[in-house]
Amino acid sequence: MGCGRHIIVRARGGLPSCCSSSAASRAHVGLGKGVQRSFASAADEHFLRVSTRGPPVGRPFTVLGIETSCDDTGVAIVSSDGRILGEALASQAALHEEWGGVKPDVARDAHAAALDRVVGEALERAGLATAADVDAIAVTVGPGLEICLRVGCEGAKALALAHDKPFVGVHHLEAHVLMSRLAVGAADVAFPFLTLLTSGGHCQLLLTRGLGKHAVLGSTLDDALGEAFDKVARLLELPVGGGGGPALEALAREGNPAAVPLPIPMQKKRNFDFSFAGLKTAVRLAVERAPEEVKRTRQFQADVAASFQHAAFTHLEQRLSFAMGYCARLEGVIDGAMNGAQDGADPPRLPGTLVVSGGVAANQELRRRLQALCDATPAPGGDGAPWRLLVPPPRLCTDNGVMVAWAAIEALNEGGSHEAEGQGVRARWPLGRLAENAEVPKGTKSARSDLRKGIAV
Ligand code: ADP
Ligand code: MG
Repeated sequence: MGCGRHIIVRARGGLPSCCSSSAASRAHVGLGKGVQRSFASAADEHFLRVSTRGPPVGRPFTVLGIETSCDDTGVAIVSSDGRILGEALASQAALHEEWGGVKPDVARDAHAAALDRVVGEALERAGLATAADVDAIAVTVGPGLEICLRVGCEGAKALALAHDKPFVGVHHLEAHVLMSRLAVGAADVAFPFLTLLTSGGHCQLLLTRGLGKHAVLGSTLDDALGEAFDKVARLLELPVGGGGGPALEALAREGNPAAVPLPIPMQKKRNFDFSFAGLKTAVRLAVERAPEEVKRTRQFQADVAASFQHAAFTHLEQRLSFAMGYCARLEGVIDGAMNGAQDGADPPRLPGTLVVSGGVAANQELRRRLQALCDATPAPGGDGAPWRLLVPPPRLCTDNGVMVAWAAIEALNEGGSHEAEGQGVRARWPLGRLAENAEVPKGTKSARSDLRKGIAV
């Protein structure tokens, strides 16, 4: 969710208002493998009631996942061995064009009208007759547009109860984060890793240590990057159905990124936070100040698009460079708690993989630039190997049902499911707390206090 295209209410992550995840995360540090524990969702035990029901043992199991947190009705059936058996998506792009963004009540009605059909399509593509043929039902229960979330949640509860299946409530942002573990193979994407989550509603830098263990190193101070893409696309009168990002990216390929001078956000601030509001205003002023005869030309518009992308991506690269520097510093102070392992059970691991997820990760130019950054930066550990970049395929970067089903599979593998009966949704639900609230691994100082002392990056 996030919905930068959302025109009435904006639900954003960032500073925690309702979150008890830090305490929950701390409580899990040190738990050994096989010990049943909660995951992101269980950060609030009153919101999600943990159930003892699990998937079948001894064979791969299947999960039907439903996503309705914003504007896409996504459903997928995924197998616990990582195969996507069937997926279907109903886009609301045409409605966006009509309304100029996501209008929550219109989006809710569209979800309600599409859900049964999309579930049927996904099942059919998986070669299954009904939801009775899957082993569990999962749904995004937050964060997102409340009335939209409710459509999916009620639908999933009805399926789980009617067919007596285990039910899993999924955190939308964690589902984005975990997507790369499906795309590449969970065994090949070990925790911990550094995550850049960049979508229509969020821009966050996370140190992902496991399920439910996401230390938020930095967040956007204002707009999300996808939201900025959408607004600049609208300013240039590009099609914004389904988000302005793809149209802006296509136009930027024809432009010169140095043609329109734009400020790189927060150049002088050596921290992990992001800001895109000033850049967005600078783009608007550049367009307003251009002579009328220039303004309308395709070349000028392409130059604006390319220059905006260049400034925004340079900002991301700078933040990531700082974060990679921070990860390198974890060496020497890291201990077993980093990986949630029992004393001496696992050797400590350092993050050497960058996972990028969320809608903006579909951008090919961003992928190219981050690949170059990773190739040029030695990963922590001292053997000289560069950072590894993982980005899911573009269709799995934007909201979809696959990520919900997969996040539930990860949860079920750790022994977590929820009671369907009485399950509600949560519009605001930050993924983790800021690093200064003791979410960074035990044995290290807070990233932020390190930064204040100027020693982290
Ligand atoms: P959310 O979960 O925040 O609703 P998604 O994860 O589905 O959003 O991402 C949608 C956002 O991603 C939109 O703001 C859209 O403009 C942006 N986006 C999608 N594709 C691209 C792209 N190729 N380049 C840049 N931004 C993109
Ligand atoms: Mg999303």
